[in-house]
Amino acid sequence: VRRPDLCSSTPTQVPGSLRTTTPACTLNVPSEANYTEQLPAGLGARLQEAGVSIPPWRGRPTSTLEKKKRKPQLMEEDESSGALLKPLVFRVDETTPPVVQSVLLERGWNKFDEQEQNAEDWNLYWRTSSFRMTEHINVKPWQQLNHHPGTTKLTRKDCLAKHLKHMRRMYGTSLYQFIPLTFVMPNDYTKFVAEYFQERQMLGTKRSYWICKPAELSRGRGILIFSDFKDFIVDDMYIVQKYISNPLLIGRYKCDLRIYVCVTGFKPLTIYVYQEGLVRFATEKFDLSNLQNNYAHLTNSSINKSGASYEKIKEVIGHGCKWTLSRFFSYLRSWDVDDLLLWKKIHRMVILTILAIAPSVPSAANCFELFGFDILIDDSLKPWLLEVNCSPALTLDCSTDVLKRKLVHDIIDLIYLNGLRNEGREASNTTHRNSNIDAAKSDRGGLDAHDCLPYESLSFTSRMYNKHDSVVEKAVSVHPQAAPASQLEGEMSGQEDFHLSTKEMAQSKPKRRSRHTPHKTLMPYASLFQSHSCKTKTSPRVLSDHGKAPDPQAGNFVLVFPFNEATLGASRNGLNVKRIIQELQKLMNKQHS
Ligand code: ADP
Repeated sequence: VRRPDLCSSTPTQVPGSLRTTTPACTLNVPSEANYTEQLPAGLGARLQEAGVSIPPWRGRPTSTLEKKKRKPQLMEEDESSGALLKPLVFRVDETTPPVVQSVLLERGWNKFDEQEQNAEDWNLYWRTSSFRMTEHINVKPWQQLNHHPGTTKLTRKDCLAKHLKHMRRMYGTSLYQFIPLTFVMPNDYTKFVAEYFQERQMLGTKRSYWICKPAELSRGRGILIFSDFKDFIVDDMYIVQKYISNPLLIGRYKCDLRIYVCVTGFKPLTIYVYQEGLVRFATEKFDLSNLQNNYAHLTNSSINKSGASYEKIKEVIGHGCKWTLSRFFSYLRSWDVDDLLLWKKIHRMVILTILAIAPSVPSAANCFELFGFDILIDDSLKPWLLEVNCSPALTLDCSTDVLKRKLVHDIIDLIYLNGLRNEGREASNTTHRNSNIDAAKSDRGGLDAHDCLPYESLSFTSRMYNKHDSVVEKAVSVHPQAAPASQLEGEMSGQEDFHLSTKEMAQSKPKRRSRHTPHKTLMPYASLFQSHSCKTKTSPRVLSDHGKAPDPQAGNFVLVFPFNEATLGASRNGLNVKRIIQELQKLMNKQHS
């Protein structure tokens, strides 16, 4: 087996760079004016400063005029560098979601053709199933794989439960109380039976509720909800979990959140959370007296889209079974719910969950993982982690799913920004940049906005309102913030009653505002750590460790880990989980004070 010398990759071998040897990873470099105008504020300048060229940007089709304008520049590049200018190449198989292929083609990439091309002439391989370890080992410096090895520890329900239980033992229940009490069958059978009967005794005539889920299946398959022990069917490879019987209801429908998380590396650990997502609804009203009704108790869209009520206009939630996350948060805000606090808790939960497996994940270069976190909110607004999915569904089933298109665009931006930044670091002019940084540091004797990759320097909200972002535009258009309450009600309810049921109001606490206060920005769609650190000039920032600090954002992806200099340090040269947990605790204390 030939091991690639990943560390010694030269600037000409890094993804997205101009190469002279392998045509597949040469670039069609647009003119600066064309691409910098589409970059997040300040980022274009930073990349140029680092001597970085950028791949065809965003999904906007290139006009003939732009193509004409570009051509001479391409020729100039071509002549001066001697490089063969060709688009990047993606590789897919029959499991690759069609939207991935369509986005990459839209961005000017070419599809890999086994017959025509050299076996190594591709830049990105995206498929649903994981890669073999040999595929990881043989990955070339110009290639990226869309899976990281070892992540099933998170995405199998039994493994997730075991890892989180271990973390609870190590770092305390107060931090790791976001997963419902879980028993892994068959090992925990006796413990479960003891817990069940003890609870029955405590509750007296009240019922307790449990959910039984196959450890490895997805899309709601094989799930059983029960209250009476005689309905419990024990099976291997199952988990039995406390059923959250007091979910936050919207229009009396249960829902859960699908949060997209991209880990661009485990060593050092780098986590981004997508600032848009999905809310998935059950399509029949929540009813604990009928536990067999999957349309009322399971929020999987694969189940609900085949239900009789899917097409109906339902109370508050309207048609179908999905909302965007922005619409959900707007809804919460309209009830005076502190959605920012909820979002902070979700970020923290994501970090704590990934920390549970990060130290044991094998090292692998040039790969990333997109996770789908399924989170249920209860009526006291506590978020519960239900499961973590690898290869979260990227099918476009309804208009709300359009956000997945932008999600794929933003993933490409994210991984190619990282690649490009590496290239910039290794390019000769980076030496100059770093020496400037060092000089500046010694001048000022400490941190400064210019020697960091500052969280503050990139305005996320300005990016959010980019006119090319159709999904964001959509989110804004359904956003009730600036709308008068009555108009808002119409938009949110899909012409139906906007009011929560009395039971819901009593349970979920949100109170109706007499008048809606417009919010100025799309918060909580900016990083909470970011927003936190924005408050003061002297607040900790991620120090650029010779330019190695991760990008604070790409599209709607916002860096949530590392979130300060201490956690950046604690994620280098072996992950110091204890130190990171301390930092998280400090942050929580600050947020609560
Ligand atoms: P799957 O991988 O089959 O989708 P999940 O764990 O995501 O399995 O469960 C499917 C659905 O069942 C969830 O979307 C949620 O609606 C419901 N559910 C799962 N676990 C619980 C729980 N502990 N309490 C309440 N509802 C749950």
